[in-house]
Amino acid sequence: MFGSGFRFRQWIARVLRPGPGVRSAFARRSLVAVSLLVGGCAQSEDPQIVFDGPTMGTYYSVKVARPPQGMSAESLQPQVAKVLDAVVAEISTYDPTSELSRLNRNPSTDWIPISAELYRVVAEGQRISSLTDGAFDITIGPLVNLWGFGPETRPARLPSEQEIAAAKARVGWRKLELRADPPALRKARGDIYIDLSALGEGYGADRVGVWLESQGITDYMVAVAGAIRTRGNNAKGEPWAIAIEEPLPDRRSVHRIIPVSNRALSTSGDYRNFFEENGKRYSHEIDPMTGEPVDRRLGSVTVVDDSAMVADGWATALMVLGDRRGPEAAKAQGLAAYFIVRDTNDQPRGFGSPAFESIMQR
Ligand code: FAD
Repeated sequence: MFGSGFRFRQWIARVLRPGPGVRSAFARRSLVAVSLLVGGCAQSEDPQIVFDGPTMGTYYSVKVARPPQGMSAESLQPQVAKVLDAVVAEISTYDPTSELSRLNRNPSTDWIPISAELYRVVAEGQRISSLTDGAFDITIGPLVNLWGFGPETRPARLPSEQEIAAAKARVGWRKLELRADPPALRKARGDIYIDLSALGEGYGADRVGVWLESQGITDYMVAVAGAIRTRGNNAKGEPWAIAIEEPLPDRRSVHRIIPVSNRALSTSGDYRNFFEENGKRYSHEIDPMTGEPVDRRLGSVTVVDDSAMVADGWATALMVLGDRRGPEAAKAQGLAAYFIVRDTNDQPRGFGSPAFESIMQR
């Protein structure tokens, strides 16, 4: 698989190159593309379209195998960018004009009408919260911002206990009520702040995928950072091959390559988006119970699902649950999840949930 290493390195080099308009956010956040894609189509005779670009402070990439006649990167890319721009306008906390940012600023505790799109992502967040007993929580925003992992600048010092307690008081998935028809949301406190970053890249990959399908495209792979959606096969007629990285902050190397067809996959980890203080690592996955970044042996979790949004959310949820409760939850929920833990010598060791292993054997 790694035989196509040169092309692989070229791809990585392209993805790592910040484009106009995203340089500072990109540099600050580091790359979160914890799932690397292995194209591997060098010997293919079938045509394919490949393009990538900036979105959500990171990068997206699209590959279309055997495209319908007349289609080109030039015809597809502006439309894909429009789909992703629409997602940002709906659910970004980094865009002060987005629907979500306006909702977060709205101090009302009455029902607030929301779009069907925003409803969909919030509803998925609430579903995962209920299944994880609140380890996953989209009202985590005040804590994410306090620790410097949101749109606000990183504080010069670690938050105090009082600051953590004040932010925690605003957090709690049960403080949100949702209504499906017509879509609306009610906050128990006016200062609830919703953060959909754990679901957003996957949601973006799903939205692009659905749009590609509406254009008659049957074989594609869409990645928004570490959230990837595939349909059909690659240009060689084989399943798309996706590599899971070793959870190492200082270099990129492949831990395992997974064949994925007609499924989505997302990886969350503690090794790209973090800071260190007094020799301790603080990563962007926050435990709502403690109000602090998770600090465990678990280096990354990859989840495979039909939907990239669901895979994205669960990957974060299982990271927060940790190396003991995470695998238990994956088993109980029938989730296809792959965990990489670090042993006492910092050596990575991977293992899959029963559903993951059964997918890999097919
Ligand atoms: P994931 O593991 O998928 O998610 C981790 C994130 O989830 C954390 O960073 C936090 O926000 C949240 N989280 C932490 N703990 C929990 C918990 N217990 N429960 C639920 N959620 C939790 N970044 C920029 O720098 N600039 C931008 O312009 C920008 N625009 C964006 C626009 C959109 C629409 C979205 C969705 C994100 C944007 N981002 C931007 C954020 C950036 O891409 C995020 O880092 C990313 O979405 C988080 O994904 P991940 O793969 O890094 O980590």
